[in-house]
Amino acid sequence: MNARFKAQRETRDYQASDAAHHIHAFLDQKALNAEGPRVMVRGEGLYLWDNDGKRYLDGMSGLWCTNLGYGRQDLNAAAARQLEQLPYYNMFFHTTHPAVVELSEQLFELLPDHYSHALYTNSGSEANEVLIRTVRRYWQVVGKPGKRIMIGRWNGYHGSTLGSTALGGMQFMHEMGGMLPDFAHIDEPYWFAHGGELTPAEFGRRCALQLEEKILELGAENVAAFVAEPFQGAGGMIFPPESYWPEIQRICRQYDVLLCADEVIGGFGRTGEWFAHQHFGFQPDTLSIAKGLTSGYIPMGGLVLSKRIAEALVEQGGVFAHGLTYAGHPVAAAVAAANLRALRDEGIVERVKDETGPYLQRCLRELFGDHPLVGDIQGTGLVAALQFAEDKATRKRFDNESDIAWRCRTIGFEEGVIIRSTLGRVIMAPALVAGRTELDELLEKTKLAVDRTAQELG
Ligand code: PLP
Repeated sequence: MNARFKAQRETRDYQASDAAHHIHAFLDQKALNAEGPRVMVRGEGLYLWDNDGKRYLDGMSGLWCTNLGYGRQDLNAAAARQLEQLPYYNMFFHTTHPAVVELSEQLFELLPDHYSHALYTNSGSEANEVLIRTVRRYWQVVGKPGKRIMIGRWNGYHGSTLGSTALGGMQFMHEMGGMLPDFAHIDEPYWFAHGGELTPAEFGRRCALQLEEKILELGAENVAAFVAEPFQGAGGMIFPPESYWPEIQRICRQYDVLLCADEVIGGFGRTGEWFAHQHFGFQPDTLSIAKGLTSGYIPMGGLVLSKRIAEALVEQGGVFAHGLTYAGHPVAAAVAAANLRALRDEGIVERVKDETGPYLQRCLRELFGDHPLVGDIQGTGLVAALQFAEDKATRKRFDNESDIAWRCRTIGFEEGVIIRSTLGRVIMAPALVAGRTELDELLEKTKLAVDRTAQELG
């Protein structure tokens, strides 16, 4: 490893100190005492190095966010320039700054004409938190204040703050700290697990009709919005059947319910389109964005509003009683603008659509189509999931599928590849700058991990 990045302290020293003081996300903290955390010290392109010099191919782009990969000097330079020029000022009342103005210009050049305004936040959770208040405010402004209920999906993930947790459908998260009133959920559209005898198309429509049933049960006059990820990320990388989104859109329009897409993972090129809703062919009223907005180099998120919503809020809404000290932070905005410029000027999204995405998807199906452990392969662009199954023909899943997928992920780390497990699935989402060489390594090491997992199962 480059001498500049040589370990400053022993790995076990970092681990002990970390375990003593730092609560980790989504982990039983006691596990840190048994097995210390990996200490990552450097990133370059798709690769990470830990404190002991071991190299990993990051098949998850961090948490679906480092779309440009690690070590981009243009992003670093944009941050440094902005830190020097204006490290902070806020967007409250009558002030703005060039960095956020230029970011908005770039963002709305990429977005379909349907959208006109954005609110900036520091994360995806905050974007969804703001979404809840903004949607309710919209309905107050247009004279329908009763429309307050937000409908999400079981196993959907929208963040870890209170409102975004309630909107999400992770029951183990609801159990920690309680649910909120005026939130409801419908089922996830996962055919392999829940489709029974229905064809995928029939099942997609069936799942969408649950939304209509839920709206009728709650009363359309009480329902503000349906919020969902175009493809479900943390809840298993689930791609709905093609029949799903058109039917959801029809229902939302029929009952005057806003359709809100959480594009925190899907946005900024992951599917080969700039936004995942474009891949699935529907037109949401709002888009929650984060992660790929800055390629994860600095925290930033936002909520994009359609012209219809923005116009009502601007023309009739009066004071918008909301503000975050760091919203539109100049350094984050400068990094985001540099990131969007690079994605656009280097033709990265087009390459995912035409070249690297189809290549990854084809190779996955060639490698795992007949694999005894793999029941289903889903994905598009540079995002994919392998569903483990005991019997592919009958779609019978393992009782301990989460343990099996977790084991596969752990073996992946041993083999030097970072893939993630969620429920009974192993998922991947490499940086969008991945070329064939990196994708081949990702495929080869994932195959090793899946093969070793299958051998252990006997
Ligand atoms: N929405 C989706 C779809 C996500 O996947 C995530 C995080 O993974 C969030 C929202 C929350 O974003 P953040 O972790 O930046 O708060």
